[in-house]
Amino acid sequence: MFPFTLEKAGSAEAAIAAAATGARYIAGGTTLIDLMREEVERPERLIDINGLPLGGIRVEGDDLLIGALARMADVAADNNVQRLQPLIAESLIEGASPQLRNMASMGGNMLQRVRCPYFRMLDVGCNKRTPGSGCAAIEGINAGHAILGTSDYCVATHPSDVAVALVALDATMRVHGPQGERSFPVEDLFRIPGDTPHLEHTLLPGELIVELRVPGGPYARNARYLKVRDRASYEFALVSAAAALAIENGVIREARLAVGGVGTRPWRLRACEAALAGKKPDRQAFEEAAELATEGVRPLHHNAFKVVLLPRTIVRALELAGEVA
Ligand SMILES: Cc1cc2nc3c(=O)[nH]c(=O)nc-3n(C[C@H](O)[C@H](O)[C@H](O)COP(=O)(O)OP(=O)(O)OC[C@H]3O[C@@H](n4cnc5c(N)ncnc54)[C@H](O)[C@@H]3O)c2cc1C
Ligand code: SF4
Repeated sequence: MFPFTLEKAGSAEAAIAAAATGARYIAGGTTLIDLMREEVERPERLIDINGLPLGGIRVEGDDLLIGALARMADVAADNNVQRLQPLIAESLIEGASPQLRNMASMGGNMLQRVRCPYFRMLDVGCNKRTPGSGCAAIEGINAGHAILGTSDYCVATHPSDVAVALVALDATMRVHGPQGERSFPVEDLFRIPGDTPHLEHTLLPGELIVELRVPGGPYARNARYLKVRDRASYEFALVSAAAALAIENGVIREARLAVGGVGTRPWRLRACEAALAGKKPDRQAFEEAAELATEGVRPLHHNAFKVVLLPRTIVRALELAGEVA
């Protein structure tokens, strides 16, 4: 492995100053160390942020606040998370493995890198790893790749499960950077690849994720995360759906829907949500809304099955959400 330095951050300000000049934050290390071992990423200076006071889970009114250093396992097991935002807990439990969830932080989860196998193969073209080198996946094995938000430069899916739930629930993110603090929707963190797939997120140089805020809503407790994958555990989604329904007097008042495993970023489905509002929560309404999810899909040689699997997964997730509503 190549040489690098590792320092413990004494304060958020010191960490941010170091990151603004090229150092990289490290939290659980479950993404970054993997990629360093394979030399896909070669940072020279790491700032260990685990000593900063960025953990913990708080409740403010109906809103849930999750520190960037809270571990996936702790968030999933937290009583307030399970009570106020069961979708967050369920999407976390469906991700990775127990060992990984014990190490992996929520902030790191947002910035995990793609699982496209070619991204990790240094001897093949990958525009995300090496801009301008081509995309081996487009003509390669692409069963796991995206059908929404793709470009001729990159077709990799965003791999996070909990990000799909956060996007469905209109969560926001607070970050601290050299210019101070700002908050924005989690959805706006993720870029689609376009012709610059190496630019994956909208954080400014040095910005540190501090906290996630998940607002309460009439649908929050009536929500389910369904993940379809090749094996039942320790596997990324082929298609996943986060569905939440507010049902009043037998009619859907509000719906929230986002999908994973199909988009180059966690994919919110606002047209489906609008189609569900005012309808009875039955299979016909779910199927009609789910069909809208496939608008604009660009299937590849091996992943056309996702065009069929996507609406089916959405219908089942909506049925499950309807059962708890
Ligand atoms: C085998 C395997 C299977 C997995 N399966 C799944 C799965 O099914 N579903 C799923 O959702 N995830 C899965 N993951 C991904 C896992 O959830 C992430 O690796 C983990 O959440 C990353 O968190 P971390 O704290 O370890 O991040 P690190 O590796 O420490 O950091 C990751 C990136 O985030 C940056 N970073 C970390 N914290 C901050 C912060 N506070 N502010 C700004 N930047 C920060 C780092 O600089 C780095 O670029 C899997 C991972 C592995 C290795
Ligand atoms: S899909 Fe994206 S990550 Fe995969 S090889 Fe192509 S450019 Fe690289």
